[in-house]
Amino acid sequence: MTHWIRHFGALGAAAAALVSAQAWAETVAIRAGSVITDAASEPMGPTTILVTDGKIAAITPGHGAVNADREIDLKGKTVLPGLIDLHTHLTGDPGGDFWKEATEPDEWGVVVGAKNARLTALAGFTTVREAGSGRDTAFSLRRGTAEGLVPGPRIVAAGPALAIIGGHGDVNGFRSEVNELLDSGFTCTGTVECAAKVRLASQNGADVIKITATGGVLSQQGRGLEAHFTPAEMKAIADTAHSLGLKVMAHAHGARGIQQAAEAGIDSIEHGTYLDEAAARAMKANGTVLVPTLMALEGVSEGLGKGVYTPVVEDKIRAVQPLMASLVSRARQYGVTVAFGTDAGVYQHGRNGEELGLMKKQGMSDRDVLASATTVAAKVLGMESQIGKLAPGYSADIIAVDGNPLADVTVLEDVGFVMVRGRVIE
Ligand SMILES: [Zn+2]
Repeated sequence: MTHWIRHFGALGAAAAALVSAQAWAETVAIRAGSVITDAASEPMGPTTILVTDGKIAAITPGHGAVNADREIDLKGKTVLPGLIDLHTHLTGDPGGDFWKEATEPDEWGVVVGAKNARLTALAGFTTVREAGSGRDTAFSLRRGTAEGLVPGPRIVAAGPALAIIGGHGDVNGFRSEVNELLDSGFTCTGTVECAAKVRLASQNGADVIKITATGGVLSQQGRGLEAHFTPAEMKAIADTAHSLGLKVMAHAHGARGIQQAAEAGIDSIEHGTYLDEAAARAMKANGTVLVPTLMALEGVSEGLGKGVYTPVVEDKIRAVQPLMASLVSRARQYGVTVAFGTDAGVYQHGRNGEELGLMKKQGMSDRDVLASATTVAAKVLGMESQIGKLAPGYSADIIAVDGNPLADVTVLEDVGFVMVRGRVIE
């Protein structure tokens, strides 16, 4: 008898799977007033986009009859690929006291992250790269948005960042036994241990390796903003990651730290504050991409003088302030590729789109800014054949706005419709 019950149960599960697969395979027709399929091309006029099974099935001019189960009317809007933010921290909100690290469990980050994932998607960001978070929190969120349990963007996750002992990214500011208890397990010293930590991150499910290559602004240590890892350690990290098919993103402020990271083969520099000619030339020569995170400075500047930050952190914020205003123009002067990333979590989640206007202010054209947040960012992720454009076979990551972002990219600060992997986000 039990055998038959089990057999029946298996059949029931198979039938249920078939039904849900059929439901998922519904075809949706998006009727767009105008479509920008790629930041490099001109807007198409009225267009119909067919979406099936989370992917774009067809893009056809006009609003003629199509075989679809459902229609979405965006006839008054410009439809374009969803935006990509290469630097977010969904599991945290800005301005929290540093000691909360000792009172809030890592799991709380998943709850905060679920809230922020939805806000980020509603802002038009259909893919984000999680740039460092506690334990498995980003991996759980990644699964949550992939399975549709949590409304939010596709998440490419680093998990915990690699840091030097006592450096930015490690626990700081507590008495030693508390530091020890809160240790993430991802500090390393020397090439062998650093390579081992890359392999551990890979084993745990990291999509990308994040390291804190230099000192940082928001950590409780006043050891400057120059290189923390040695050149040999950075090379061991980059070589090991690449051998596993993973890229490395390096938080870096100091110029020599940026230069050493680029020469070590690290794939992207996050922040890049003190970028000088030698550092920029090293980045250009090694194909290292800059992710400027201008919004990070906006966010922290708003909290200055209000008791939000400790004195050691306030001093560092005031030191980097004047440099960020020229960062993008300095990088572009030497031909460094600039890709979109904001450091959301350092400022309030959902304001990611404000970075577009800040990039434009530093001399980028509207088209270049849009490319940085679509095709260029997709390439940094190695996902340029899946996201960043609208084309048959690409993920149905689709947003809609009023106006033409190629004429004024800041219209993307107000996104009216968002679809991630074929699911409309509400
Ligand atoms: Zn960050």
